[in-house]
Amino acid sequence: MKITKIESSVLLAPNYDSEIASSAQEDIVVKIHTDAGIVGIGETDTNSWATKAYIHSPSTHNMSISLEHLLLGEDPLETEALWEKMYVSTAMTGRRGLGICAIGALDIALWDLKGKALGKPVWKMLSDIHQPEVRPYASLLPTGRTLEEVTSSLIQKVLRAKDLGFSAAKLEILINGPYSQAGLQEKDSEIVKIVEKCRDAAGSEMVLMLDVAYSWNDWKTALHTLEALAPFGLYFVETPLRSDDLDGYASLADNVSTRLAAGEWLQTRYEFQDLIDRGHIDIAQPDIGRVGGITEAKRVADYAVTRNRLIIPHCWKSGIGIAAAVHLAAASPNVPYIEFLPSELSESPIRRELLRTEFKLNRGIITLPSEPGLGIELNEGALEKYKGD
Ligand SMILES: [Mg+2]
Repeated sequence: MKITKIESSVLLAPNYDSEIASSAQEDIVVKIHTDAGIVGIGETDTNSWATKAYIHSPSTHNMSISLEHLLLGEDPLETEALWEKMYVSTAMTGRRGLGICAIGALDIALWDLKGKALGKPVWKMLSDIHQPEVRPYASLLPTGRTLEEVTSSLIQKVLRAKDLGFSAAKLEILINGPYSQAGLQEKDSEIVKIVEKCRDAAGSEMVLMLDVAYSWNDWKTALHTLEALAPFGLYFVETPLRSDDLDGYASLADNVSTRLAAGEWLQTRYEFQDLIDRGHIDIAQPDIGRVGGITEAKRVADYAVTRNRLIIPHCWKSGIGIAAAVHLAAASPNVPYIEFLPSELSESPIRRELLRTEFKLNRGIITLPSEPGLGIELNEGALEKYKGD
């Protein structure tokens, strides 16, 4: 079997709002075609237009080869060899950042293709050891442009998530810092008040996590709020500090009992090794597309096992990324949850309509898929309807 064509589709939600922190409003979907008629599907979470240009740009010298040209004519079943080839041949431009995100989309598509060719779900090809089920947490981004609107929207979403059967939910409280909702700059004490209200709404049984999206510039300011949040029993606090402040993460992690989670923007096992060993974080959050695909995400998960850390994959795109996270979690012993943006609670029509079939919750859990590959089916109509380039 040979790869015959690489196709990339950029999607944009017509109702997108550039003042909110939701990358689910755009997408790049890649398809890898073969001479056997089998097609693999992948996506990644970064600038979709730039990624498409990068994948299809020409090769001009041997340290910056075109990903498209590199894959054409290759055997798609040689997943790890192709990862290595893509990484080495694009290293000058792409050994971090968008270049790895692009490899991630293609690698997910290669795993989907391989599973379809061999008649196996991806998780069965990743490991002999597998988990009985996968537990998603509902990732909740409120709407609204004022503190009051954001608070009441988030409480409503907590209640909806509970109704949908989720046993865990993450509160996206983005009311100050560089990525705040609609430019809000509220006091840190307001974060604590919103968490308290959400805990009251959720009840004591529901597992709650908190994402503050890089709110603080120094670890002692973060510590002050994390100590005030202690009574609400948060499972983790996500990205309290900037991505590159590894020493700040280490100091904070060493001084709080709440788990710290980070890593949604990082690329490759190398950055996760630094985050874990120098940053002392408790939970690493690779996004499967951004970290370099299923191949690299599994390497990160395996490394975290050796360092006794948990993995909770980031996912804020579509059912394609969720499927990739489900397969990783099924094949890894240290993934207690996966991030799950419920389509019922998403404002993005891409999230709601991109797939014809996707994984459903059954009493708060996802049972392991038995279909070959990722086990999902694209809604081709959505690719046309939300075409963004
Ligand atoms: Mg986040």
